[in-house]
Amino acid sequence: MEAKLKELRQRLEKECQINQELQNCNRDLEKRLMEKERLLEDLQTRLGDLDGSSPRDDNDSIHEVRQSRAAVMATEPIPEEPDIPATRVKKTASERAQIIKAMGRNDFLSRLDDEQIGMMVEMLTLQDRCPGDEIIKEGTEGDSLYIVAAGELQVTQAGRHLRTLTSGDVFGELAILYNCKRTATVKAVTAIRLWCMERQTYRSIMTSKSKRKRQQLMGFLKTARTLKGLRDEQLSNIIDSMEEVKFQDNEVIVREGAEGDTFYIILKGEVLVTKKVNGQQKVIRKMVEGQHFGELALMREILRTATCTAVGPVTCFSIDKEVFEETIPIESLEIHDDSDLESVSTSEKERPDSTLKLKDLIPVLYQEGRYQSDPVTLGLGGFGRVELVTTLHHGKYYAMKKVSKKLIVEKRQSAHVLFEKRILQEIQSDFIVRLYAAFKDTRYIYMVMEFCAGGEIWTKLKEAGRFEEHTAVFVVACVVEAYAYLHKKSIMYRDLKPENLMLDAKGYVKLVDFGFAKELKRGQKTYSFCGTPEYMAPEIIKNQGHDFTADFWSLGILVYELLVGSPPFSSSEPQKIYSKILDGVIRFPPHMGEAARSLTNKLCRPRPGQRLGNTKNGIKDIRNHRWFNSINWHKLRMGQTVAPTVKLIRKGPCYINFDRFPFDKSLAEEEFSDWDRDF
Ligand code: ATP
Ligand code: MG
Repeated sequence: MEAKLKELRQRLEKECQINQELQNCNRDLEKRLMEKERLLEDLQTRLGDLDGSSPRDDNDSIHEVRQSRAAVMATEPIPEEPDIPATRVKKTASERAQIIKAMGRNDFLSRLDDEQIGMMVEMLTLQDRCPGDEIIKEGTEGDSLYIVAAGELQVTQAGRHLRTLTSGDVFGELAILYNCKRTATVKAVTAIRLWCMERQTYRSIMTSKSKRKRQQLMGFLKTARTLKGLRDEQLSNIIDSMEEVKFQDNEVIVREGAEGDTFYIILKGEVLVTKKVNGQQKVIRKMVEGQHFGELALMREILRTATCTAVGPVTCFSIDKEVFEETIPIESLEIHDDSDLESVSTSEKERPDSTLKLKDLIPVLYQEGRYQSDPVTLGLGGFGRVELVTTLHHGKYYAMKKVSKKLIVEKRQSAHVLFEKRILQEIQSDFIVRLYAAFKDTRYIYMVMEFCAGGEIWTKLKEAGRFEEHTAVFVVACVVEAYAYLHKKSIMYRDLKPENLMLDAKGYVKLVDFGFAKELKRGQKTYSFCGTPEYMAPEIIKNQGHDFTADFWSLGILVYELLVGSPPFSSSEPQKIYSKILDGVIRFPPHMGEAARSLTNKLCRPRPGQRLGNTKNGIKDIRNHRWFNSINWHKLRMGQTVAPTVKLIRKGPCYINFDRFPFDKSLAEEEFSDWDRDF
C-alpha cells in the first residue's frame, strides 16, 4: 500500500513537472506569437507607407527610398584612369548651362564642388530614346544617373503614376554612388534626349581627380620651408585638415597690420602682394598657383606685414593655427622667416602711442545746446567718466576714461584697473577697443582709447526697441570675433551686455570695458562672482566655478536681448533674476525665428560643458550655426562687410550718438598709496 502511494506521488510530481514545462513552453510560444504579430503590424504599416508614397518632397529627382539603416557601398573596383577622350561628348554653351542648372537644383549634385561639377558636365554622354522606352525599371539594380535634355517621361511606382519629368529634371542619382535597387519605373512618353553618367565613370573621375589634387597639394606643401622636417603622413594629415576658400577679384585675403593665424596655398589664380610705404600701397610681387603665404602664422602670433589681394578669382587651400596645432606637434617644425610675406612677431606690435602726452590732449566742447562750451562727456561708468578729447597736431579724436584713484582704492578695484590696462594694451583686434596710451597723476588714472563714434549698442537698442534679425546677426558676429581673439589669448571677458558694445564710425562693433576680464589657463576654473545679473551663467550664481563657457552663456543672452529688446531672465529684483536663470526656462516671443531660438538654446545650456563653443571645434561651431549663414567670416574680419548697423548711426557733431552729460567741475581727492606704480 505504501509502495503504491509512493508510486502515485511520484507520478503526480512528474505530471506536475510536465505541466510546468508545458506552461513554460506555452509562454514562450505566446511571446514568439506576439513578436510575430508586432513584426506583421510593422510590415503592414511600412507597406502602407510605400503604397501611399506620393512624392514626399518637391525635389525634382527620384529618391531611392532607403529600406533600412544598413551600410551601403559600391562594389566594383575603380578603374585607374577613365577613358576620357573616348566617351567625351562636346556640348554647346546652352547645353552646359542647362546641365549646370539642373545639377544646381538637385539636392546631392548641388553639393559637389565647382571642379567636380565641371568634370561631370564634360563626361555626361547623350542618349536618344523613343516613346515607350523604359529607362529605369522598378526593382532592378541601377547604375546610371540621368538628366532630361528634352522630352517628357513618366514615373510610376507599382503601376501608379507618380509624376512627370521634363527637361532639366534629374533622376536616378543615387545609382552613381552605390548599387541600389530602383524604386520606381521611368518611361519615355515622347521622344526624349537624356544626359547620362554611369557609376563607374563617375567614381573614377571623382577619385582620380581627388588623387591628383592630393598629389599636387603634397608637392606644394613640400616647398614650404617650415614644413620641411615633416614626414609624408604628417603632410597628408595637414591636407586632410585644410579647407578650400575662394576669393573674388580684388578681395583682400590678408591685410597688413592685421593679426594672422592662417596659412594659404594658392590653388588657382593670382595674388598681389602690396605694402604700405610712406602712406602709399607699393606692389611687392605677384604670387601664382603653388605659392604660399602666411607660413609663420602657423607657429606664432604675427601681424601681417603685407596685404595680399586676389587678382581675378582665386582659390586657396588654407589651414589655421588652431587646427594645425591639433594636427602637428609644433616641435617638428623648422622655424624660418616667412620670405613670401615678411612678418613681425607680436612683441613688435603697435604699442600705446608713446608720442601721445597727457598735456597735449585737449577736451572737445559741446558746440550747442544746454551744455554748450562744456567738455563733452561720452559716458559715466561705475567709477569715473569717459571724455572726448583730441590733439592739436592731427585732430584725431580719442575717448579718455578718467577714474579717481581714491575711489578705486576705496572700492578695492585696483587689481581690476591694473588688469584692464594691461590687457587692453596687449590687445590688437578690430573687434575690441584700442588703448593708445595710459597716464596717471595724483588724483586720476587716464586711459586714452580709440573713440567709438557710433555710440553704444545699448542706446541704439533702446531707440529701436529691438533689432532686425540681420542687424542682430552682425552685432553678435562681431562679438564672436572678439571672443575668438580673447579666448585664444586665454582671456575671459565676463561682462557682455549691450552697454559694453560700442559702434565705430563704420558700424563695426567693439567690446569696451575690461573691468571684469580675467586670464585663465585651459582646464582651470575661477570662482569669483561677477558680471551683470541678467547675463550671468548659472554656474557663477551657484559658485560652482566657471570658465570661458560662461562667456558663451552671455552670448546667448545677447542674441535674445538684441532680438527681443529685453533679456530672457529679467526682474526688478536681482534674486528673482537669479532664480529664473537657475530655472533656465527661456520663453521665446513668436517673432523670434527658429535659428535664433536654436542658437540661444545651445548657448544657454545649463551644463557649461554642453554649450555651443565648448564643443569639439570650439568657437567654430558657433560660427557654423545656421543663424550666421549670411555672415562671410573672412570678409567680416577684413572689415569688408557692409555693417547693417550704419543706419543706426546719426550724422552730425562727433558726439551726436551719445547722451549728453553735465561737466563735473569737482576734483577728486589725491591718493598716494602707490598701488598704481606700474600703471
Ligand atoms: P562700468 O560701470 O560699466 O564698469 P566703466 O567705468 O568701466 O563703467 P566704461 O564702461 O568703460 O566705464 O565706459 C563708460 C561709458 O563711456 C560707456 O558706456 C560708453 O558710453 C562710453 N565709452 C567708453 N569707452 C568709449 C570709447 N572708446 N568711445 C566712446 N565712448 C566710450
Ligand atoms: Mg561699462
